[in-house]
Amino acid sequence: MNYISTRGRATKVRAGQAIIQGIAPDGGLYVPESFPNIANNLGDLINLPYNELAFEILKLYLTDYSSAELKSATNGAYSYPNNFYEPSIAPLKESGGLYFLELFHGRTHAFKDIALSILPYLLTTALNKERPGEKTIILVATSGDTGKAALESFAGIDGVTIVVVYPEDGVSDMQKLQMLTQEGDNTHVIGIRGNFDDAQTGVKGIFNNEALKEAMKKNNQAFSSANSINIGRLLPQIVYYVYAYAQLAEKNIIKIGDPVDFNVPTGNFGNILAGYYAKKMGLPINKLICASNQNNILFDFLRTGTYDSNRRFYTTMSPSMDILISSNLERLLFHIAADKGDTNHVQCGDLINSLMVDLQTKGEYNFPYPMGDFYASYATEEETRTALADSYSNAYVIDTHTAVGFNACKKYQMEKGSNLPHIVVSTASPFKFASDVYAAISGKPVEEGSGPFYYTNLLADKTGLEIPNGLRGLDEKSIRHTSICDPCDMLASIEKILQ
Ligand SMILES: *Cc1c(COP(=O)(O)O)cnc(C)c1O
Repeated sequence: MNYISTRGRATKVRAGQAIIQGIAPDGGLYVPESFPNIANNLGDLINLPYNELAFEILKLYLTDYSSAELKSATNGAYSYPNNFYEPSIAPLKESGGLYFLELFHGRTHAFKDIALSILPYLLTTALNKERPGEKTIILVATSGDTGKAALESFAGIDGVTIVVVYPEDGVSDMQKLQMLTQEGDNTHVIGIRGNFDDAQTGVKGIFNNEALKEAMKKNNQAFSSANSINIGRLLPQIVYYVYAYAQLAEKNIIKIGDPVDFNVPTGNFGNILAGYYAKKMGLPINKLICASNQNNILFDFLRTGTYDSNRRFYTTMSPSMDILISSNLERLLFHIAADKGDTNHVQCGDLINSLMVDLQTKGEYNFPYPMGDFYASYATEEETRTALADSYSNAYVIDTHTAVGFNACKKYQMEKGSNLPHIVVSTASPFKFASDVYAAISGKPVEEGSGPFYYTNLLADKTGLEIPNGLRGLDEKSIRHTSICDPCDMLASIEKILQ
């Protein structure tokens, strides 16, 4: 399996090379040349533990990794109680006639742990083979959860330095504290005075800064990415779609081959794109429901084909979805264009290139093809609060992001009348966003300045749930990272770290 760039101008590479590079040299994102098919052997994938399923799926994509290398990665990453607090890694829970795929039982309690617990294995294996001795600098822009998950997974890894850039006022108190207390000599955290899009644009600019890359090359250094622009983040996420489906089949809720709907709280479009990949591989998915918060650019896009970023940016209670420029959408557009049949990869790349130029110069583009695999919906803050309370009244506590999905589900079922099994991808522990969750289910307003732990305790008392390990005791850890800068000074801050 080779990987080609969405901009059509980079030479094709092996998986390991794509993972090391993070972003393609033509500025595009790497995508698999084709999709392996699992439709005919779905039955063999039922009843497998998570690590074994991950091996079966990933070997189809990571064909330049040996079986032993992949086994060591999947066994190392998906292990209980080392990296996950739940033996099944990603349990499926039923509530109110819906299924919730809980992806938040990893070390940092958000779904990012699933891919980021395996990425260090995939990256270091590839580095040893492709570029022995090179020092990798992982540069990450985060809307809150990726940052901590990446810090946690790369802390202490030889030959790797990790730098996380986050919007100073755009993450929850808990997310910030998780990052600022990160230990490990190879970890760096920088707050910027701006939003996530500023952080992500800055990081992409640094990746494409030729002068800087040349200077680094002389020091045997190179950048890589732990954001979902890295194909090594995306591929491991396919696994849990198959795993959710397998759990429904195991419980005899569906027969192999029956269609299901997946509902995904979406920001950068990485999670839901992995669902699209699963569908392309033959997993019987009817619709992928793309749930946005008040930043509803994807809702407008999927319904009209016009992606218009000239709009207000909202700071919401689901901060990991406060995004106007969804990086991974570029991959979807490429695949849809490629499926049109009358275009080759270079022509598709040219189309994507022109759309991205439009986005940069005009802030918008028009995509000419339909996107029928998706249903789009969004939640206002009020609707998110209602969804939190509704789920709580079904005796199931969800986080603010998952609540956006829950709201989309009600709208979808009302609008489409679908009664297929509906799986909501549950992306974070409610304790990560305890103040908003507690406020919504108790009907009391959030008291400003009360600090994150006040609410984790209240939430635990009210729901009878335990505060997850990694979040407990965080208030006793010391703050280790205090850098803050303007977006325009990001490059200088990073150059300082590189020396
Ligand atoms: C990252 C994140 C999302 C959005 O996922 P994307 O892959 O960026 O679309 C949703 N919920 C939570 C809790 C997240 O951390």
